[in-house]
Amino acid sequence: MPTVSSLRIAIVGGGLGGLAAALFLRQAGVHATVYEQASALREVGAGLVVPPNMVRPLARLGLAGKLPEFAVRLEAAWEFRRWQDARVLSVQPMGDECERLYGAACYVAHRADLLALLQQALPEDQLRLDHRCVGLRQDAGGVELTFAHRGGGRTKVTADAVVGADGIHSAVGPTLQANAEPRFAELCAFRFLVNAESAPAAALRPVQTLWLGPGRHLVHYPISGGRLVNGVAIVPAGEWRTESWTAEGSVDDLVAEFGGWHEDVQRLLAAATETKRWALYDRDPLERWTHGRVTLLGDAAHAMLPFFAQGAAQAIEDAEALAACLCSADAAAAPAALQRYEAMRRPRASEVQLMSRGREIRNHLPDGALQRQRDLELAHGEPLRQSAWLYGHDPEQGATHASG
Ligand SMILES: Cc1cc2nc3c(=O)[nH]c(=O)nc-3n(C[C@H](O)[C@H](O)[C@H](O)COP(=O)(O)OP(=O)(O)OC[C@H]3O[C@@H](n4cnc5c(N)ncnc54)[C@H](O)[C@@H]3O)c2cc1C
Repeated sequence: MPTVSSLRIAIVGGGLGGLAAALFLRQAGVHATVYEQASALREVGAGLVVPPNMVRPLARLGLAGKLPEFAVRLEAAWEFRRWQDARVLSVQPMGDECERLYGAACYVAHRADLLALLQQALPEDQLRLDHRCVGLRQDAGGVELTFAHRGGGRTKVTADAVVGADGIHSAVGPTLQANAEPRFAELCAFRFLVNAESAPAAALRPVQTLWLGPGRHLVHYPISGGRLVNGVAIVPAGEWRTESWTAEGSVDDLVAEFGGWHEDVQRLLAAATETKRWALYDRDPLERWTHGRVTLLGDAAHAMLPFFAQGAAQAIEDAEALAACLCSADAAAAPAALQRYEAMRRPRASEVQLMSRGREIRNHLPDGALQRQRDLELAHGEPLRQSAWLYGHDPEQGATHASG
């Protein structure tokens, strides 16, 4: 793709959001370089929902056709089951119905495969590894970034605009006075992978299953072409306060959380050989993402709880909107273009952030009248249609795509 713009963009962070931003900017003819602190791009072993509002942008990058090579196309989702007896409370057909409504299927994938898909599409010289951003100074003409390297050295780079795509513990955010205090959700998540041979047959179906029970819930779906089952258990945090995707948890602790649950749950958990555990925090929506020539994208801009499975999708929506705003800007117009990007994205991402709060209260009801009422409502819900505001949105058009 030829570069037609004279703009030079620096993206701090080579996660899903940063790489997608570089790809959309490249497609729009704008040169961007990604600076990533790690010396190799790696993702922790975990799965991710790739909803239609992420698949359509990937299609516009020419990458969605590769999803079936490693991701699993969901035939059903929101399969709610009762904790004790596995009774199905409701289930939503996906597959063709999702494509009909939203022009794309819904997939579940291994994060590492998704990151590799984006990395392979980006020319090597647009990704600089071992570049940890430690300083940022802007004036009317541009931004100077300082990077620290593993060997101890430092280098400086200048750019017309900077995008902080450096995740929940962003280094760029605080330089804009755009950091929000973490809010503890009093919950923690156990995340684990199980080999297909060790998993109960029900967990191998191309279905996203959610087991609901008193005080906790468990989500699982197959990934990696069905070779693995990804599981996430949301439980009360107890004393656990570590907010890290990579902190090790104990499988015994995980199994103990689900004592008395249905045997399929017990079998799945018992097959886990390791688990990650992190305390769930989110942030209030930021009042601004942009200051002058610097803006934020992805978790750095809108860290959210995982209950809508939208963190990565929102990052990719950001990436597409950013490129749409910057494609016609020169260096002088870059600050105004970043303001347009923020105006396009902040209201929606903030809404998703706020909507993602409090879902656990409903999911974790103890058995009783409220739980029976919830189960009745689940049985009559139409979650796929009700997700039109999420799944039907296209950032560039700012429009909702749902039909029928
Ligand atoms: C294991 C895991 C599981 C998840 N599961 C779900 C899920 O099921 N559903 C869902 O909606 N969301 C989920 N999320 C959240 C979702 O994946 C995130 O919203 C999404 O990855 C955000 O992407 P990002 O690029 O903004 O940030 P990140 O993926 O966090 O990437 C940030 C990148 O910036 C780099 N970086 C940080 N600081 C610096 C610095 N100073 N200099 C240079 N580089 C830096 C980091 O090394 C990292 O590569 C999950 C996240 C993780 C990690």
